[in-house]
Amino acid sequence: MKICIIGTGYVGLVTGACLSDFGLEVTCVDQDEAKISLLNSGGIPIYEQNLEEIINKNVKAGRLSFTTDIENAVKESEVIFIAVGTPPNHDGSADLTQIKNVAGQIARCLNGYKVIVNKSTVPVGTVSRIKKIITENQNPSLRATEGSAEISNEENSHCEEAERPKQFHSTHVIPDSSSVIPAKTGIHPSVIARSDPSSVIARSDPSSVIARSDPSSVIARSEATRQSQKEPIPFDVVSNPEFLREGSAVQDFTHPDKIVIGTDSDRALKIMQEIYRPLYLIDTPFVFTNPETAEMIKYACNSFLATKITFINEIANLCDKVGADVHQIARAMGLDGRISPKFLHPGPGYGGSCFPKDTRALCSISESNGYEFVTLNAVVSANKRQRELMIEKIKHLLKELKGKTIGILGLAFKQSTDDIRESSSIDIVKILLKEGVKIRCFDPMAMENAKKILPDLTYCQDEYETARGSDALVIATEWNEFRNLDLYKIKELLKNPIFIDLRNLYETEKVKALGFIYEGVGRR
Ligand code: NAD
Repeated sequence: MKICIIGTGYVGLVTGACLSDFGLEVTCVDQDEAKISLLNSGGIPIYEQNLEEIINKNVKAGRLSFTTDIENAVKESEVIFIAVGTPPNHDGSADLTQIKNVAGQIARCLNGYKVIVNKSTVPVGTVSRIKKIITENQNPSLRATEGSAEISNEENSHCEEAERPKQFHSTHVIPDSSSVIPAKTGIHPSVIARSDPSSVIARSDPSSVIARSDPSSVIARSEATRQSQKEPIPFDVVSNPEFLREGSAVQDFTHPDKIVIGTDSDRALKIMQEIYRPLYLIDTPFVFTNPETAEMIKYACNSFLATKITFINEIANLCDKVGADVHQIARAMGLDGRISPKFLHPGPGYGGSCFPKDTRALCSISESNGYEFVTLNAVVSANKRQRELMIEKIKHLLKELKGKTIGILGLAFKQSTDDIRESSSIDIVKILLKEGVKIRCFDPMAMENAKKILPDLTYCQDEYETARGSDALVIATEWNEFRNLDLYKIKELLKNPIFIDLRNLYETEKVKALGFIYEGVGRR
């Protein structure tokens, strides 16, 4: 099966590389010529563990290629993944410009039935908007007037019905999605259960699904008829949100906790199952639902995790005041099976390319639907305040910030990535600069990205050069490399032995015993 991925960023490149590793033929497309030529010359534009090996292996095997030519890539593919950015607008809502542009581009290149799979994080209703754009742009005579209602799923499904090979009706192995999933209401109970590998393998066995539908002959036959009758070319749009985490993206993609597929089309569902067949084999749970629910699942997951992080941060802030130890509290909470120990690590507030924008986007979706999402609004404000509280901590220990030099360890929004988007470390650096502080800094992977937006910092070779002559040292990102510093050496290099550990990597008593003025988050 030929696949193309539009948008070769963190999600698109990892998706493309891993799907090619599943044995599929993948073309990754991006409009950024520099990125594509870097990839074509053997370079990798992002840092992600194990990604380079997978890319090299599959490029060599002829299964993975990179191009800026969207037209050819779309025309030659049966399935088109969209993985472009959905950055925040000023009001917090998701900016869908890139999605809309891609939908228009796909529409103009449509040359036969295709499944268009949206992986970008988008507000509820975006699958319908993509359908509408493609429908309108592939055939000008169908173009609706400005402000007219969006084309409904039912209208689109007429095309699917006409195009669907008859064999699908006679060999149904998966119940019709319209009967499994009540439209716009929820998920059928059977789909949440861990898939039974035997039944799933049977369902997704290529000979039983793909061969039966023989896409080339069916598409060719129906294309000829359609073109002679000037009918619109059928397509399906599927929501398939991505849950990978930067820093462990390859592992997350190949061993996910779940795969969510939102579609109202049987035909698209079967093709999606075929794509993810290797994951059935390792017993990955699948959630099959309608597109609206799939779109909402992604925001619900990210917002819940952001809430959990913010909750433990607030507990830590309170611990700072009352003298309790947040680590012991987090451990005890995590031992409660209903809570789980994950995402209970206090720090300077969540960052990255997803949580900040997705929480704001869900607040905005709520607001535009006349609902005030009280808890999530509070999470967004508390997360912003967390950075300010960290500055207060630094200020408290240094007394005066103006004119001081501070060494910052870590610029990435978390360890194992070079991504600095909405990084709490970068936000803290920016506030310190405004306060008249000089910054020395080091990050194992993110310095090149940081230099693009903050060229005037002193970028150091390592942790020790960062400490040299600084009035205080701040750990801002939890890189493993920072967990075993030679603290004797650090103390000698610092102007004052002030050590602020915003990720709680060190034991308070041990560091204080070495003569440091040390402060973590929520621990005395
Ligand atoms: P990114 O900015 O790293 O990559 C997006 C890419 O799309 C860029 O390379 C850009 O040049 C390209 N692009 C934009 N318009 C294009 C067009 N018309 N044609 C071809 N290429 C085009 O973004 P990302 O971090 O990969 O995120 C993509 C989506 O996935 C977002 O919606 C994000 O919220 C979501 N997501 C991200 C993560 C993550 O950890 N980064 C995880 C899950 C979901």
